[in-house]
Amino acid sequence: MTTHIDTTRAVSLVTKLMAIPGKSGEETRILKAVVGELRGAKVPASAMRFDRAHTRSPFGGETGSLIVRLPGTRSGPRRLLMAHVDTVPVCEGCKPVRRGNRIRSADRGTALGADNRSGVAAILSAVRTLRSRKLDHPPLTLFFPIQEEVGLVGSRLVSLRDLGNPKLAFNWDGGAPDELMTAATGAYRMKTTIEGVASHAGVHPEDGVSAIAIASAAIADLDRDGWLGLIEKGTQRGTSNVGTIEGGSACNVVAPHATVLAEVRSHSPRFRETILKRFRRSFERAAASHRNVAGRQGKVRFEIRLDYESFKLKTRDPSVVAAVAAVKAVTGRAAKLKTVNGGLDANWMTRHGLPTVTLGAGQHHPHTVDEVLHIDEFLGGCEVALNLACGEAPPS
Ligand SMILES: [Zn+2]
Repeated sequence: MTTHIDTTRAVSLVTKLMAIPGKSGEETRILKAVVGELRGAKVPASAMRFDRAHTRSPFGGETGSLIVRLPGTRSGPRRLLMAHVDTVPVCEGCKPVRRGNRIRSADRGTALGADNRSGVAAILSAVRTLRSRKLDHPPLTLFFPIQEEVGLVGSRLVSLRDLGNPKLAFNWDGGAPDELMTAATGAYRMKTTIEGVASHAGVHPEDGVSAIAIASAAIADLDRDGWLGLIEKGTQRGTSNVGTIEGGSACNVVAPHATVLAEVRSHSPRFRETILKRFRRSFERAAASHRNVAGRQGKVRFEIRLDYESFKLKTRDPSVVAAVAAVKAVTGRAAKLKTVNGGLDANWMTRHGLPTVTLGAGQHHPHTVDEVLHIDEFLGGCEVALNLACGEAPPS
């Protein structure tokens, strides 16, 4: 691999960024570091702005996402380079240490935050190289979205106009630099509120309708018929999960209420609807079949929210074509196109009308205390980012 970036500098940058806490909604410090790094690369402050995504986020938060618009030194379609800046709570307090070709957290109780500081550092290292070596490049937009880990908030709420209407888009949030994530599943979140009727559990249980009994009957029904966990019906595939149940008030009271949080995923929007329908039916039937002596039955209410829509990029999408070429140019290997069963910022970007490829910069085992950064892969990710920022292989 020919290297163009300053590898020592890139590794020390990613190490520095991983040590900065930045839970979803608390991204001020990390974004300040990003702005500092960009200023160091002589990006003028006037090119940077923050959107107001946090004011519309269900989680609130300290700051909006950072958007940086750079004019091209040559003409060409605008390119977007993006990486989310927030980390999951288990990264808090991480002290990155290098051992050989790996970086881990010194404290075995914390994750590293390579998800996604590796992506952020890859973009920043590419921009630093671009500026210091005065390489030609088309118009570029850098986008550092907030609150990815709690539901892809920054990418959901961004507007393409604020991004300068880019035509190609690349998102760093993965492992191996030669793997391109070009398809991802879609998901719904479902909150079911069950209302029963309270009564004394010992004296007059027959006056009550147990919300907990309704919830368990519905869940048992879904489980028995194969609608929980991995769902395979004919050629259709999906998953579902009941994540939490809350309910009841006391041991001696027939439970008057219960809340069930569930999620449903499938690459097929239609099959996702089918699963949701089946969930509703099970809860409605369970409610109808639980009555007290007076004939009163339980009630159920659903709040369903699209977390993110699935997508599948075409191999001829300009972003895919460019990413495949960049991987080949940098690693000498053919890119592997991957489909993932989780949500990415790319789900929302693609939904907004901008097909977005997600690439890797060395992160592995995210969200766990085993999280690790592979330095070679990270540096490969930096080179691919530089190649994509230039719009062609930089002169060596
Ligand atoms: Zn991530």
